Amino acid sequence: MNTYLNTGIELAYLIAAALFILGLKKLGSPATARKGNFLAAVGMLIAIVATLLNQSVLNYEWILVGMIAGSLIGAIAAKKVAMTDMPQMVGIFNGVGGAASALVAVGEFWRVLTTTGTVPLDATFIAILGVLIGGVTLTGSLLAFAKLQGLVTGSPVTFPFQQPFNFLLLASFLTGSVYLLIKPDPAVFLTLTAISLLFGALFVLPIGGGDMPVVVSLLNSFSGLAAGAVGFILYNNMLIVAGALVGASGLILTQIMCKAMNRPLTNVLFGAFGGDSVAVGGSGGTEIDKTYRSIDSEEGAMMLGYARSVVIVPGYGMAVAQAQHGVRELASQLEKMGVDVKYAIHPVAGRMPGHMNVLLAEANVSYDRLYDMDDINTEFDRVDVALVIGANDVVNPAARNDNASPIYGMPILDVDKANRAIVIKRSMRTGFAGVDNELFYKDKTTMLFGSAQDIVSQLVSEVKQL
Ligand code: NDP
Repeated sequence: MNTYLNTGIELAYLIAAALFILGLKKLGSPATARKGNFLAAVGMLIAIVATLLNQSVLNYEWILVGMIAGSLIGAIAAKKVAMTDMPQMVGIFNGVGGAASALVAVGEFWRVLTTTGTVPLDATFIAILGVLIGGVTLTGSLLAFAKLQGLVTGSPVTFPFQQPFNFLLLASFLTGSVYLLIKPDPAVFLTLTAISLLFGALFVLPIGGGDMPVVVSLLNSFSGLAAGAVGFILYNNMLIVAGALVGASGLILTQIMCKAMNRPLTNVLFGAFGGDSVAVGGSGGTEIDKTYRSIDSEEGAMMLGYARSVVIVPGYGMAVAQAQHGVRELASQLEKMGVDVKYAIHPVAGRMPGHMNVLLAEANVSYDRLYDMDDINTEFDRVDVALVIGANDVVNPAARNDNASPIYGMPILDVDKANRAIVIKRSMRTGFAGVDNELFYKDKTTMLFGSAQDIVSQLVSEVKQL
């Protein structure tokens, strides 16, 4: 009976793993993403049910309490958390995952030690790995959350003798690990756990708040690795597969974000970009003639309504203002008037990858209207009006032209090549990277000041009157 049950569980795990992989594949395109999410959720349900059938489960009451509490928190968070706060939420989830992995590693080490009087070498090694990755993920994620939420300073924090201190800590960890492999001493194991927790905080402390999305993505990858390590501790194939998938996808996402910002990961982790060290307001090397032209919504509506083609460039400001529904309405109105409307999506517009796609999908913008950077950039010189809504760095030509600029080399949307550009933002203030934008001072550019939501709804009513 037991053998049949175990085979059934392993088979269920195999099906769940296949569903995870299929789900991930479908998440690759906005058109199939919902289905992908659903398939992965079904996979998770199968995995949970199969695990609950495992005969080594001793107590169902606590599992039930955990499941109800977890589902409640998840459902409330999914309803309440704003899209702009998503990096924090992912941060907290990673932290919880890391904590679970570290606790399982500590629990298993303790259980084996107290029942058999010793812990095998391989089990000790994996337990050390489990607490290290889990501990770093927990405190690193909590600190990332606190920085993003503004609970502690978002700027990089450094202190004297930081590097030697880190080195000393690392040396102690390695020495303790070797000792533990020889003699499974619970006091040493707890010390290693404490050092791992300290490592997480020290890892995130010197990183600027603005780089936190990249760090959150990296910690996401760590949480997968921690789960994978726990899979080895518990001999659970599902955890190993799921952990490996999360670990690999988190790493790929981190890589994508770094590439789209044209910054190596080492620079994000140790370069303090986005923190106080970046000269706010400076453009880098080139001096800009700082005269700009501003228009009101009526003039803006005329430019848009009489254009043949309009490319909308959404950015972080559109997300903060939650202007996506108004933007869709504006686009529909323009289309009714015969204007060809497209959306240009930069991979790091906003504060997390896919931010703009998700918001526009929420507002029912059709996927075939969304154009990736490489596809739309070849078209800008034929576009009548580029309408930039709360985007700044991702349309800054300094990234292309000014090798002294901190964002030099970051691929951008070539809005400056369109015939005219209208930029909606509240002021001449800089964006995330803290650098001025020469696009705003070009003859072909007109600024339309105000919060994106107000301006877009004004544009809608003005366009309707044309
Ligand atoms: P930016 O942060 O460069 O610019 C956003 C602009 O929106 C600001 O200049 C601001 O100007 C304006 N804004 C803010 N609130 C409003 C509002 N309510 N109404 C209208 N405008 C508003 O954003 P981008 O999207 O152009 O670029 C994203 C940046 O984030 C890049 O530097 C990228 O590297 C970085 N980043 C992105 C990640 C991602 O995965 N997407 C991850 C990590 C970093 P004003 O204050 O004058 O209104």
